[in-house]
Amino acid sequence: MIVPMSRQSSVKQSIPKELRFTVQQFNDRFPTEDACLEHLKEKRMPGGVTYCQKCQQERKHHRVTGRPAYACDYCGSMISPMAGTIFEKSSTPLRLWFYAMYLMGSTRCGISAKQIQRETGVTYKTAWRMFRQIRTLLSEDVQLEGDGVEIDETGVGGNTRRLGREPKPKKTVFGMVERKGRVKAVVAADRKKDTLLPIIKKYVLPKSVIFSDDYSSYDDLTRHRNEYEHRRINHSAGVYVMADGTHTNTIEGFWSLIKRGIGGVYHSVSEKYLQSYLDEYSFRYNRRHSGNLIFHSILEKVSERAEVRPAPKGDQKSVETSASSEVPF
Ligand SMILES: [Zn+2]
Repeated sequence: MIVPMSRQSSVKQSIPKELRFTVQQFNDRFPTEDACLEHLKEKRMPGGVTYCQKCQQERKHHRVTGRPAYACDYCGSMISPMAGTIFEKSSTPLRLWFYAMYLMGSTRCGISAKQIQRETGVTYKTAWRMFRQIRTLLSEDVQLEGDGVEIDETGVGGNTRRLGREPKPKKTVFGMVERKGRVKAVVAADRKKDTLLPIIKKYVLPKSVIFSDDYSSYDDLTRHRNEYEHRRINHSAGVYVMADGTHTNTIEGFWSLIKRGIGGVYHSVSEKYLQSYLDEYSFRYNRRHSGNLIFHSILEKVSERAEVRPAPKGDQKSVETSASSEVPF
């Protein structure tokens, strides 16, 4: 089909219809707190059926009027679909949580706590904590493979020029990406061989073809010839693409996405949370062909990552209060 030039550009920018989930659709799907709770219930206890601790067997449960809970049809014991999830200790409405996940899944370059504060009226601290909690769902243990796995290390954050302050060193981040595929990025203690090789072995399957620059930490990859095929590009000599197609442009593209995001949206990220930001960016990158249906993948993670049983009483340290002494960024 031929598309006129003017339409081509608009087609390019917009998300294909089948991959779209608009704010309007979000509002239709989750109009109220109850709709969100119902969704969570269906995910965690389909049809309201779940194990009742008191009856010690599977029972049908019904909604308790006026409370975000369901009660056993037989003995009346109550259970909350939020138990064991990131929502459990939160007083923030579920709908706001869902919307925060929607925003996080709909952006390409990241979204700041400030933005959701402006859009929803929650405090900055609450917004920041919601995002932090959502990010904990997004780490994935992927196994990369194939004939084009690019690896590279980079420095993120740090500063050198702030008056009256100790310069902070950049943190080393190590990334591995399949061309046209998935990415895995981790915070690394340093750039040494002994640090990076185990990471590669953990995330890249044997027999893969690995592309890297000529940095010396990758020297030993050639000693594992039976494990990996290794092709290098001589960056230090100013070469970026070899005649045979060897390059590391894919991982560098991912780095620029991360750096634009952290620089532009998050300004700076403390060491403690850097990994969770990498996880957030990787999660989106790995679903970059899903439009803003990424929201559904994030939502899916809530029940996937939920603890099956709520924490026993006495061990219920509130997430909200335990974080109160921490300063964002
Ligand atoms: Zn019961």
